[in-house]
Amino acid sequence: MAVSQIYAPLFEPIQLGPVTAKNRFYQVPHCTGLGHVRPRAEAALRGMKAEGGWGVVSTQETEIHPTSDLSPFAEGRLWDARDIPALRLMTDAVHEHGALAAIQLVHNGLHATNLYSRAPVLGPSDMSIDTNQPKQGSAMDKADIRALREWHRAAALRAKEAGFDIVYVYAGHGMTLAQHFMLPHLNTRGDEYGGTLENRVRLTRELLEDTHDAVGDTCAVAFRFGIDEMLGPDGMQAAEEGRAVVELLADLPDIWDVNVSDWTNDSATTRFQPQDGYQNDYLTHVKQVTGKPVVGVGRLTSPDLMASMLRKGLVDLIGAARPSIADPFIPAKIEQGRFDEIRECIGCNICAASDNLGIPIRCTQNPTIGEEWRRGWHPEVIAPRKSDSDVLIIGGGPAGMECAMQLARRGYGVTLSEAAPEFGGRVRKESRLPGLAAWGRVADYRLNDLQQRANVQMFTDSELDADQVMELGIESVFLATGSTWRADGLGRNTRRHLPLIAPEARVFTPDDIMSGRMPDGPVVVYDDDHIYLAGVIAEQLANAGRKVVFITTDSIVSSFLTHTLEQHRVQARLLELGVELRCNRVLRAVSSDAVSTVCGFSGQQDLTECAAAVLVTERTRNTTLFDQLKGRGLRNLQQIGDAAGPGLIADAVFAGHRAARDFERPAEQSENDWFRREIIDLREEMP
Ligand code: ADP
Ligand code: SF4
Repeated sequence: MAVSQIYAPLFEPIQLGPVTAKNRFYQVPHCTGLGHVRPRAEAALRGMKAEGGWGVVSTQETEIHPTSDLSPFAEGRLWDARDIPALRLMTDAVHEHGALAAIQLVHNGLHATNLYSRAPVLGPSDMSIDTNQPKQGSAMDKADIRALREWHRAAALRAKEAGFDIVYVYAGHGMTLAQHFMLPHLNTRGDEYGGTLENRVRLTRELLEDTHDAVGDTCAVAFRFGIDEMLGPDGMQAAEEGRAVVELLADLPDIWDVNVSDWTNDSATTRFQPQDGYQNDYLTHVKQVTGKPVVGVGRLTSPDLMASMLRKGLVDLIGAARPSIADPFIPAKIEQGRFDEIRECIGCNICAASDNLGIPIRCTQNPTIGEEWRRGWHPEVIAPRKSDSDVLIIGGGPAGMECAMQLARRGYGVTLSEAAPEFGGRVRKESRLPGLAAWGRVADYRLNDLQQRANVQMFTDSELDADQVMELGIESVFLATGSTWRADGLGRNTRRHLPLIAPEARVFTPDDIMSGRMPDGPVVVYDDDHIYLAGVIAEQLANAGRKVVFITTDSIVSSFLTHTLEQHRVQARLLELGVELRCNRVLRAVSSDAVSTVCGFSGQQDLTECAAAVLVTERTRNTTLFDQLKGRGLRNLQQIGDAAGPGLIADAVFAGHRAARDFERPAEQSENDWFRREIIDLREEMP
């Protein structure tokens, strides 16, 4: 099928130094939590992107030397020749599908903790490292700088040997030595590497020249550059020093891969940056200066936005990390005109949280990411049905919808029954809270798919009881009935002293707020959950003009969101809205006019006056129907998603997906043996 005129430019080849990319889809470097620790899984994930049509597929940041050791996080590693075979797995997987393989070499400078190598931390100047570790870096002398250049050059040669087509110099995200040298607040040197911008850029220039010299005959040299720190006059700004850097280095790189710094700005969540293409304003400065191809990012999921960015000459290549995680097949789907089938990133940063937790990547929209090798999951392919059985799925939230969609794709006759007037469960309700609108995409994508399948029957307003289920005569039943927020205050910090809730107290749960039941008067939001919901509800109440006191058992608001790179923004927003924050306090009682708490450390008691309290503590699983159906002779009866174990939306989607994959699989192939592991096998060394 011919590609439509509008999108044809996205499929034009482009010369990048000595290599040619087959199209304009460029998977920029992004972490996966796999890296050097799980190289087969890493290779399979990147290979899947290439299969999905990306013209360039990159690694994550890849450490060049033990002085740039990001342990315990599983980034890339190319310290010496022994690291080459693992990376060769990735380049082979990428080349198999006609894509170019790029490697983002990095020295992390003051961002490296060196906890594994115990090497000294290197920086432009003496100062603390930028993570919360008891360490300081020391200023590199000229010999250190010469050594660094040699390490980078040697790593570039190893990268070439590993089969890479594009080799990066990386000065971005506030995480790299080259950028640390560029920034005057980190570089206080008095020699030719400090002072003027030209001096501060000297190291980057040398690294670019060295890399060209070492591998430029066969590899393109890419430069990833954080053009704006988004700190206003306190940091680098795109229109000023950012642009001046592009002028100084103009045609030295073969590719400019430009974004904003730091990572929290580059990978902004939809809650705080709802607009896809939010970095476009920063890119204009680059194309005006350099003649070399430019890659830009900014949660680019819309084919029209991509095409217009090329048309306007804003960029030459469409860069993507998160959109390519949520849907590795975006290029193929655009090429084939299957726009409805694009699984759009929702900007929740559960993927980033995985990296920050040091675990393999997860995604709310794409449950197969990171599972390509260890479970053999393909995002677009699933085994056909094993029998003519029909299946009934009860509950149309993320778990039920995903399970129904995948079972339908397998060819089973699927009935999906939902008690509420609409599909989507918690994700639909949560998407109506402030800043979470994009989360509705989780339901929209699945609903759209299900509605087009002839083998699916879907019912809303259909709360089923056990007798009705039995009457349907469907022998395989999946219960995705979700969970309900508790109203009794029980949670991880109140198990020993269950709070006393006075009968006349006005207590609300998140379910109440989401169904439009709002408290009047001054209200306490009590958070013992620490994810996002309490913070969002506090925002909703403050927006509605309520005086809000936010009480948390933690020391900061919504602490899990440090992993999604947005905790600081949540806390700032609540403060801006005039919400009073009270941290480290554990709930003891709720009366008609006050909430009583104790300090989590000293036990000192305190009263907060209020007319109502919203308790965000824990959820109870909705298991009534399951309990009633047990022992009634159904061939398959299984709980999935929050009904089986309340967690993130990503967990519910994953559970629905896994249940569909495992349905009627032989036991020995199913989850019984879990998944393949990449383990250190010492058997040969045993006597
Ligand atoms: P999950 O995250 O596991 O998908 P949700 O709470 O989002 O869970 O969704 C559960 C859905 O199940 C809700 O939309 C709820 O209305 C529906 N549900 C619960 N019990 C029944 C039932 N007996 N019959 C039909 N639907 C039900
Ligand atoms: Fe997008 Fe969320 Fe998936 Fe990350 S986890 S790719 S932000 S949908």
